[in-house]
Amino acid sequence: MCSPLLSHVAAVMAAAAVFAVGSPASAFPTNLPPGSPPFPNPWAAFQNLSGCHMGEQRQGLAGLKDYLSHFGYLPPPPSSSPFTDAFDHDLESAIATYQQNFGLNATGVLDTSTVEQMVSPRCGVADVMNGTSTMARRTRSSRGGRHLYAYFPGGPTWPPFRRDLKYAITATSATSIDRSTLSDVFARAFSRWAAATNLKFSETSSESDADITIGFYSGAHGDGEPFDGPLGTLAHAFSPTDGRFHLDAAEAWVAGAGDDDVSRSLSSTGAVDLESVAVHEIGHLLGLGHSSVPEAIMYPTIRTGTRKVELEEDDVQGIQSLYGSNPNFTPTSPATSSREMDSGGAGEGGRRPDGVFVGVAVAAVGLLLAP
Ligand SMILES: [Zn+2]
Ligand SMILES: [Zn+2]
Repeated sequence: MCSPLLSHVAAVMAAAAVFAVGSPASAFPTNLPPGSPPFPNPWAAFQNLSGCHMGEQRQGLAGLKDYLSHFGYLPPPPSSSPFTDAFDHDLESAIATYQQNFGLNATGVLDTSTVEQMVSPRCGVADVMNGTSTMARRTRSSRGGRHLYAYFPGGPTWPPFRRDLKYAITATSATSIDRSTLSDVFARAFSRWAAATNLKFSETSSESDADITIGFYSGAHGDGEPFDGPLGTLAHAFSPTDGRFHLDAAEAWVAGAGDDDVSRSLSSTGAVDLESVAVHEIGHLLGLGHSSVPEAIMYPTIRTGTRKVELEEDDVQGIQSLYGSNPNFTPTSPATSSREMDSGGAGEGGRRPDGVFVGVAVAAVGLLLAP
């Protein structure tokens, strides 16, 4: 069965071919001329739209509308009339909703900080589904008394008789990360959620026996949600009880044995921490939507070079409201979470590698290793 998310997004993606720039990894240039952007980003052209506002006509706005439509902020255009480059009222209000969700000034103007947020690598799951924002609005009072986590429309969960979930790593031919490292990374990612709830997770080698399947794919891979090459969309997962979790094989994934060795290799340009993305996508597999708390695992974007694997209070409240709490659960201290959040900028100017590391797999895509 398709999730509500997929049926919505699949329709959108039919019109959003502009995102499908996913060239095969081997096609990336290995020597970029000086002054070129350090890493390809499918959304980089949005930077030319900075400052755009209501009433303007600017080349590239149609592509921005496709982006906003993909993430649920605009309905898909009728097939007879694709999006135009006109900055109309619908676009203004879509941008204002986006700005509210991400804690930006909700002016409806495409200011620099909004564009910067939009080009950040992110999860492919929509923020707005069936016209309703799944990300609670961020207001001054909301952190105090009200939760900010969200569910998928209809609140789908794994039923009470399925609390012991099996996952299978089924598609690994498109990644260079070795199998045992993948097993370790996903086991740690699942354990974050198991610790907070009464859910249990175990890996199985049998796909037919699995509730959840995990795989790496390039470009179009049969679910109407094509991946887009390095950065842009990193991964997506489906709501319960679909169980599919897909990762973009073209990302410069970093995967290792733990916090320290992963942190060292995250300073590579464009590097994305696999475990951080896995913890986020598992939240979707269990029924959580996106949160507008920037520190939450379920926040839609993640900066390159960043490791973010601890559940935040908002994530814990969200998952416990769906599945109950684990009596032995001890929340992580806020100090640990903020330490993990403060590394790296947009992949450049971050920490320097401070030595040789062992046991870390960097799923390089050619460009990463360019001199
Ligand atoms: Zn997501
Ligand atoms: Zn997919």
